[in-house]
Amino acid sequence: MATTSVVETMRGRLFRRDPVFSFEFFPPRDAKGEETLARAMAELAPLNPAFVSVTCGAAGATRHLTRDLVCSLQSRHSFGVMAHITAVGHSREELAELVKDYHSRGIRSFLALRGDPPRDEPDWTPRPNQAKNAAEVVQIIRGLFPDVSIGVAGYPETHPEAESVESDLRYLRVKVEAGADFVVTQMFFDNAGYFAYEHRARKIGVKAPILPGIMPITRAGQIERFQSMCRVEIPEQLRLAIGSKDDPHRIREIGISFAAAQCADLLRRGAPGIHFFTLNQSRAGHAVFAALQAMGW
Ligand SMILES: Cc1cc2nc3c(=O)[nH]c(=O)nc-3n(C[C@H](O)[C@H](O)[C@H](O)COP(=O)(O)OP(=O)(O)OC[C@H]3O[C@@H](n4cnc5c(N)ncnc54)[C@H](O)[C@@H]3O)c2cc1C
Repeated sequence: MATTSVVETMRGRLFRRDPVFSFEFFPPRDAKGEETLARAMAELAPLNPAFVSVTCGAAGATRHLTRDLVCSLQSRHSFGVMAHITAVGHSREELAELVKDYHSRGIRSFLALRGDPPRDEPDWTPRPNQAKNAAEVVQIIRGLFPDVSIGVAGYPETHPEAESVESDLRYLRVKVEAGADFVVTQMFFDNAGYFAYEHRARKIGVKAPILPGIMPITRAGQIERFQSMCRVEIPEQLRLAIGSKDDPHRIREIGISFAAAQCADLLRRGAPGIHFFTLNQSRAGHAVFAALQAMGW
């Protein structure tokens, strides 16, 4: 299957004022996980996403799982498949080899990340032979292949390690100046924060599209998990609505209808599209999509 350029697809859709929808998956680790992912792909692929992306976890240790899934998805689908690549877990040389390997297999889209510190090394600092941050990962990829698509991460609620809101935005600009084509944000639940972030980014000269990352809440326990893992604020109204219910179906309905309203508001106010964090499940993404279609998107 011919490789589709994520950036070209994105530009085409933005030119036609069509929203850029994308889905993020993680590589399954066992047969049951593979079945779940296959089911999710079978249900989400017909929605014709602009691209899908595959995470790389465990400080790079799962890089082969990521690579295998990226290549297998790319061989079966016409939309672009974007490989996440992290500085953590790789030397600069290993990163370069990984990118060349992807390229030799026809993969042309990357999300360049510093990566989360390894679990057993929360105070991770880069070794002398490692890229220090995502901007350096962008430089490595761009230096090897000037024509590939490169995305980077953005944080409407500011990255937890950032010295300040301003410094985090300055480093976003550094990543884009290093050669990133677009930004995908961390999940958030308050659209005002996204638009303020976008406004600040534009003010300091970041012109790249900033694709909002959305995660529909489908289980009560996710509220605490997202707050502690990603340090994102959950609006009081959503927290109370979900917290007061113990019926899993009702919780899912509330989470999905909140996400649908959030996405519709983002698109109406000019966001370029939506990147769905799927957790390899299709039902929530599907339901939000159906709601958006019913609203005319
Ligand atoms: C859409 C999305 C997908 C993700 N996918 C994955 C994944 O697949 N695997 C994974 O491990 N993690 C993933 N992450 C998480 C990400 O790796 C972490 O949030 C990580 O802590 C930071 O990565 P980054 O690329 O944003 O880092 P950077 O942009 O390098 O920033 C990291 C921190 O350093 C600061 N900083 C940047 N440059 C400098 C500098 N020159 N000097 C001083 N400070 C600087 C920034 O302000 C920020 O606080 C993802 C995040 C998002 C939003």
